[in-house]
Amino acid sequence: RSKASGRNSISFFHPSMQEAADLRIKMENELREAIDQGHFVLNYQAQFGAKNEIIGAEALIRWQHPQKGLIPPVEFIKIAEESRLILQLGRWVIMEACLQIQSWQQNGLIVPRIAINVSSNQFRQSNFVDQIEHSLKVSGITPDCLEIELTEHVVIDNIEDTIEKMKALKALGLSISIDDFGTGYSSLAYLKQLPLNQLKIDKSFVRDISTDPNDAIIVETMIDMAKHLGLTMIAEGVETAEQLAFLKSKGCTGFQGYYFSHPVTADQFAELLSEQSPQVI
Ligand code: C2E
Ligand code: MG
Ligand code: MG
Ligand code: MG
Repeated sequence: RSKASGRNSISFFHPSMQEAADLRIKMENELREAIDQGHFVLNYQAQFGAKNEIIGAEALIRWQHPQKGLIPPVEFIKIAEESRLILQLGRWVIMEACLQIQSWQQNGLIVPRIAINVSSNQFRQSNFVDQIEHSLKVSGITPDCLEIELTEHVVIDNIEDTIEKMKALKALGLSISIDDFGTGYSSLAYLKQLPLNQLKIDKSFVRDISTDPNDAIIVETMIDMAKHLGLTMIAEGVETAEQLAFLKSKGCTGFQGYYFSHPVTADQFAELLSEQSPQVI
């Protein structure tokens, strides 16, 4: 807008803002359509124990765009959250993971616990626990096959509701993990109230453990704390042998990261599993 337009010339709305808004609406519409057409897929990233054995896996969503190819979650989860499309998408993730576990089991595989990421609006739904129960029932898998990953942000957002839902999930037989641990603001006082199973050390701390003494101390403290709280622990983003050696030397017993395995397709994950425990048929 030009200065010539006089008194009312102060404009807060720049054309680029219009473009951003348009792009967002376009993205939201595309996302809605993709959900209707089932253009999503789950990849699985294995988690490893102290003896390099597979102890679990995390389900990670990808958007299979007909033109743009595979789109990672960083590019659409936020918009899905803000538009509440995450509710539909999240329900799909739960059902898809359960059906996949069932299918693997039907093929004779011994499937470790599969973790599902659950975002804030999704977890806050009054029927969230019912959705889980429904997917368990439809797939016929047992609840101990499933783990729920929540971030600290989600947990402390409404602590009463969180505790109630966590208790219900635990009563069903699921496990609960805190994802990206250390990046939020949850205090020990909060944590000890929660019926948790596991903490996942955020990869931002793991990245520099072998070079940054502060990160090394923070990670060591987290590992000790988890032990004292009786929780298992997974270090995320383990990329090097040095990081792994450090983590092991401090008593960490669970690992996830490119050093071991990238997220892979369901079929590739099945192969990893059958390499680990060859079928005796
Ligand atoms: P997250 O839950 O913390 O998942 C771990 C992310 O770290 C994944 O990224 C994974 O591919 C990546 N990663 C694994 N190992 C390494 C490593 O060694 N180095 C590095 N630099 N990265 C590693 P991805 O798949 O792009 O997912 C990003 C985030 O999107 C997830 O972070 C999670 O917050 C969200 N997300 C993924 N799937 C879902 C879903 O089904 N529902 C919801 N609500 N959120 C999801
Ligand atoms: Mg996660
Ligand atoms: Mg994480
Ligand atoms: Mg994350």
